[in-house]
Amino acid sequence: MTQELPVTRTREASAALDAADPLHALRAEFTLPAGVLYLDGNSLGALPRRTPGHLAKVVEGEWGEGLIRSWNDAGWFHQPGRLGDRLGAHLLGAAPGQVVVCDSTSVNLFKVLGAALRLRPGRTAVLAERRAFPTDLYIADGLTALHPGTRPVLLDSAADLDAALGPDTAVVLLSHVDYRTGELLDLAETTARVHAAGALVVWDLCHTAGALPIELDAAGADFAVGCGYKYLNGGPGAPAYLYAAHRHQDAARQPLTGWFGHARQFDFEPGYRPADGITRFLTGTPPVLGLAALEAALDVWELADPAAVRAKSLELTDLFLELTADLDVEPVTPREHARRGSQVALRHPDGHRIVQALIARGVIGDFRAPDLMRFGFTPLYLSRTDVHDAADALREVLATGEWREERFARRGEVT
Ligand SMILES: *Cc1c(COP(=O)(O)O)cnc(C)c1O
Repeated sequence: MTQELPVTRTREASAALDAADPLHALRAEFTLPAGVLYLDGNSLGALPRRTPGHLAKVVEGEWGEGLIRSWNDAGWFHQPGRLGDRLGAHLLGAAPGQVVVCDSTSVNLFKVLGAALRLRPGRTAVLAERRAFPTDLYIADGLTALHPGTRPVLLDSAADLDAALGPDTAVVLLSHVDYRTGELLDLAETTARVHAAGALVVWDLCHTAGALPIELDAAGADFAVGCGYKYLNGGPGAPAYLYAAHRHQDAARQPLTGWFGHARQFDFEPGYRPADGITRFLTGTPPVLGLAALEAALDVWELADPAAVRAKSLELTDLFLELTADLDVEPVTPREHARRGSQVALRHPDGHRIVQALIARGVIGDFRAPDLMRFGFTPLYLSRTDVHDAADALREVLATGEWREERFARRGEVT
């Protein structure tokens, strides 16, 4: 594939493009502190301006006034499925009844991986990438430990998938976009390869939904999980989502069999019977306030055309790659559009200190050990001129060597 970078352009030319861009208006939907250039929406999305008011309404009106009645009257009970359908329709390419918003990504992974494993009895291997987000591997470890005879098999890279797929493969667990490098896999093509081996695929979409639109149904995906607090802007610790394709739902049994997944929840029977459809993937009482914050964020998402978001994301990452091309850093994010998510990762042995020096200048990115600086580009609230300013800041931090100052050597518990 060819390299796809734009012709270098000036900050003024970028400002003119921003002014003519319909997505640029959505920036006003977010509260961003003055003097901050936020390139970490891939770790924690920004605060939508409408979220505090919506939360106040839910807290004071639905909780304070409505009390227990709000489970029925305010629709709390159906919130996981309602938000799941909205997310599915707008960003995941999933028809209604296949997505629920609940629990954390890690917990949802345990549920769908457990369901997938039970749909492939006799097969023993769960394939995953060694460089996957660690919680994915920890969950695969914990789950296979509960199914005697099954085990995780780690691939050095997704490129080794064909060699590893075989008659013993039960499930393949893959990140659609790599959290470190921003590398994007082909969802439909990879899913087809897994299916050809008779196995099922579980997609981790943490760096997908809100970064680029996808078509889970059209790709024939089996199961997927993803989180609400990154690109979706649902707030710290926002509930996550899970997708289970219609065709698997009747036969699927997930292992966290709580009362919210029961067929007759309010009959209070002593024995578990799974509810019909996607509801059987719920476990316990939904986090109503967390769901309310995510709902406000989805309202903003529905103002944006997903195709325009993707086009702008690629333009912003192209621009950043180009404006930093001559610096003493090594880009590890693929240049081909078809293989790139919505972030740029640059390698430098002192990456942690450089990111700290950038943060001191108000340019917030993050760092992933051992040597990657990550910059997330979220088209809902970043402009082209922001990309120029971020690249200039990086250029100055490197040129002045200010990152060598002792104060930038300190590491917080969260990097
Ligand atoms: C952020 C992230 C997670 C986080 O899981 P939690 O249960 O929300 O802590 C999982 N997988 C990937 C790929 C991620 O990027």
